Amino acid sequence: MGLLSGILLTSLIGNTYAAYHDFGIPASKATVDVRVFNVANMTLLNETHAFILPVVPGHESAPFPMYSFLVEHRASQKRFMFDLGIRKDPENTPPAISVALASGFAQLEPYKEIAVLLQDGGINLTSIDAVIWSHAHFDHVGDMSTFPNTTGIIIGPETDTSIYPDNPNSSLQASDFVGHNITKVDFVNSKLTFSGLKAVDYFGDGSFYLLNTPGHLAGHITALARVTPTSFVVLGGDTFHHAGQARPRPAFQKNFPCPAHLLEDAKSSVSTDYFWSHDSRPGAFDLRSRAQALLGISDLPDRFYADPVAAGVSLEKVATFDADADFLVVAAHDISLRDAIPYFPAYINGWKASGLKEKVVWEFLDRANPAFVFSPT
Ligand SMILES: [Zn+2]
Repeated sequence: MGLLSGILLTSLIGNTYAAYHDFGIPASKATVDVRVFNVANMTLLNETHAFILPVVPGHESAPFPMYSFLVEHRASQKRFMFDLGIRKDPENTPPAISVALASGFAQLEPYKEIAVLLQDGGINLTSIDAVIWSHAHFDHVGDMSTFPNTTGIIIGPETDTSIYPDNPNSSLQASDFVGHNITKVDFVNSKLTFSGLKAVDYFGDGSFYLLNTPGHLAGHITALARVTPTSFVVLGGDTFHHAGQARPRPAFQKNFPCPAHLLEDAKSSVSTDYFWSHDSRPGAFDLRSRAQALLGISDLPDRFYADPVAAGVSLEKVATFDADADFLVVAAHDISLRDAIPYFPAYINGWKASGLKEKVVWEFLDRANPAFVFSPT
């Protein structure tokens, strides 16, 4: 193969980043510590179609964990949270949420709100400098009145901060803000762009970046936490809700080949009435020749993505991290991870050394995993 055709081939494959620096991320030895909580397990009843398509019969209801992250920057002794999950008393949210919950829209297993989980774990709430909301939905904003006024709120620049009852449709209310310093992330004046996403270097040392990922909701942001000098956790918020919206993509399959037993099982477990690929035959699904993610972002009228086209663009960009060996993407409600990731008080910093990513990324295709939604039941 000549040099020219080699170059052509490389450019045709595209998006096959080899390491974090190929994304435009500067080198740094500065890191943060990240610990994960699952605040609550919620099942949205007959709402799968509002998130993912297609919905295969028997999978109309969607189980959702709600991850919340404690991020600690040792160099500055600062602590902050990324997302809080749901408040303890969701009946006290504005009608946009409380009425839907009262009508049986969701089932919640018993849970403790994040302020209690933190204090039970010996984390004094006065030590939390700020709470970052990936976006202002009820299952992310928690109850800011449980945090002291010294804890600030950090939100995406396009976040709608109107409150009920001034805005009768708002799911936010005065107690979500009162007394807290509110900071909107300034992406406009940042020169950083990683994989097409505008980024802000939060501490100015390369340890923690906020990324502009609109679509699910205006102002939706995600974060890139450097947990070792060369590995990152992507705090994905609601960029996607199901691992099958991110996978498989060609670069992902190349870097993370599907384990042989799941590849074989997928032939019969993934219904060819709903899913197809180049080398599939009726009743025999071929995963390897699947050129795009199995599940799409819902664009139905009652979808939970404000702008599904913009959400799709953000997801494509986040998916380039997912396909790379230096990044572990943790979306806020990715149930395929629920029984596999280490929770507080453990740290998730060591995910790469422990081989966690290789163990979990195809779990959504295992019939025994609660994320499995690919054949009728
Ligand atoms: Zn959410």
